[in-house]
Amino acid sequence: MRLRTLCPAAPRAWTVELRRQTGELVLVCQQCPQAGLQVTAAAARSAALAHLARHARGDLRAPHLRTCQCHERGCRWHPRHRGCAGPIRLLLACERGGRVWRLADACSACAAATAEAAFVPDTVLAGQLCPPSTRSRRTRRPRGPSERVRVSDILSYLAAALPADTSAEARLLALQCALRMNACMRVAFPAGMLRSLRIDAAEACHELERAQWLNVVDGPGAAGVAAELRDTALLAQAPARPDRQRAADWALRSGRPARTGAAESPLQLLGIYLMAHSDLSSGDGLRECDRVMRDCGMLDQGLPGVLDRLTDSGVLQGWRICPDSGDVHWTLAPGQR
Ligand SMILES: [Zn+2]
Ligand SMILES: [Zn+2]
Ligand SMILES: [Zn+2]
Repeated sequence: MRLRTLCPAAPRAWTVELRRQTGELVLVCQQCPQAGLQVTAAAARSAALAHLARHARGDLRAPHLRTCQCHERGCRWHPRHRGCAGPIRLLLACERGGRVWRLADACSACAAATAEAAFVPDTVLAGQLCPPSTRSRRTRRPRGPSERVRVSDILSYLAAALPADTSAEARLLALQCALRMNACMRVAFPAGMLRSLRIDAAEACHELERAQWLNVVDGPGAAGVAAELRDTALLAQAPARPDRQRAADWALRSGRPARTGAAESPLQLLGIYLMAHSDLSSGDGLRECDRVMRDCGMLDQGLPGVLDRLTDSGVLQGWRICPDSGDVHWTLAPGQR
């Protein structure tokens, strides 16, 4: 009689490193045996993310088989905290100024304690385990996280996936792209929608192309713009497009009160961000200043100025920064809740 031994499943944690070797930039994966792949500096970030995403897509598992990989390694990826808690999701983390990228299953508590990290948005990978024929198209009801959670997940994911100096305009466009793309990672915006975003669409598209995040297929012009996303990590999303589009519409509506002119993208972005992170009933919110600035791409100390302007334009009722904790506390104006 032959005994079947169960092999322990390989852990769901993958790390790639960008190394300089004899003047060339090389992408080295700790899990792949082959030699490093030569990449250009401009393509390095997207090549690293695409490689990690391929590993994650090649290893789909039911949720109950996924464990916190941070915990399994003694929580060495972050400062001490009180232990694992919350659901397990895919966490993208960046170390050493973008030279090391890691994608791993992690719990919410470990994720919150890890610097320079974001959950890969909307990762209902278990949904991909059922064959499409078993899913009902007609009886589909809204499911998954709320609009606010989807928007905040995408914004913090973009903070990890896009270069730190990406403008607010480009982030607003990337948010809409990520929420509206189809299963082939294509997205098309009619001219009217671009106008309601009030951004310089050509400049924002250029910026996202330079970051290797998307390719413009058509436009931008009188008919709008069509683009193809290159960020394959986003493909891990469940194909629940109506839910994502509702979240995209919510972001578009929520950005409106903060807009007073074409150059107000930072206000619009921070307005959406604060609304997405506010308590629904009280309108109160609390977040570390560093995190807010990172997620909204604010490189300088401009946060108080933008918060003041959001108060003047009727989005916020008030705000304060706690000097001890470095947290910003805010309250939405009654009309914004
Ligand atoms: Zn690999
Ligand atoms: Zn941990
Ligand atoms: Zn954990």
